[in-house]
Amino acid sequence: MISEYIDLDMINKKYPNLIYDSNKNTISGSIKICKNCNDEIISGCYDLLIDFNKSSIPYVYDVGKKIKRNYEHCYSDRRLCLATDIEQLLFIRDTKSICLWIEKYVESYYISYEYFQKYAIYPFGQYSHGNQGIAEFYKKYFNLNNEENSLNIIKYIFFNTYRGHNLCPCGSNKKIRNCHGNIIIKCKQDPNYNLLIKDFRRWFNDKK
Ligand SMILES: [Zn+2]
Repeated sequence: MISEYIDLDMINKKYPNLIYDSNKNTISGSIKICKNCNDEIISGCYDLLIDFNKSSIPYVYDVGKKIKRNYEHCYSDRRLCLATDIEQLLFIRDTKSICLWIEKYVESYYISYEYFQKYAIYPFGQYSHGNQGIAEFYKKYFNLNNEENSLNIIKYIFFNTYRGHNLCPCGSNKKIRNCHGNIIIKCKQDPNYNLLIKDFRRWFNDKK
C-alpha cells in the first residue's frame, strides 16, 4: 500500500505543520512554500488534506479553498490535479518517499498555481489531463518521440512473453535485449504491476 511510504521523520522535519493521523490514514495541516521561480520569489501557505485511502496514489484536497474555482487543474471536489496517476505512482515507488513526492508534486503545484495567477503562464510548462497526459508520460518514460510506438511497448508488456531476441516493439528494428528490454522486464516484474494496470488499461482501451 502507498501509505507504507509515509516517511514521517522526514515529513516532520521538512513540513512541521503537517500531521499524520494513523487512524484515518491521512495527513492534514498546512504547507508553506517559498521558492525562487524564474527570478521571482513565489510564496504562500495552503491548508490541505492528503488522503491515502482513495486510490493507489495519495489524493490531495484543497481544504483551505485557496485555489480558485476556475483553475483548470483542480477537480470539482477540490482535489488537486497534480500529474497523471502513473507518473506519481512510479515516482513514489522508485523513491519510496511521500516526503519527496510532496516536494515534487504538491509544492510544485502551488508554485505553479501562484505563478499562473500572476502571469497566466505555467512556469514548468503545461501538462495534459487524462489519457493525453498518460500518453505523454509514457513517451517520456520509454524515451520515445512517438505515441504509437510507446503504445506498442505497453501492448507487448501486457500480452507477450519476453523474448530477448524478438524485435523491440518500439520500432527501432533492434532486438529487444539491445533496446527496451530492461524497462520491459522491469514493468513485467513490477510488484505493483496490478496498480500500474489501471492507467495502462484506461489508455489502451481508449486507443483500441
Ligand atoms: Zn526499443
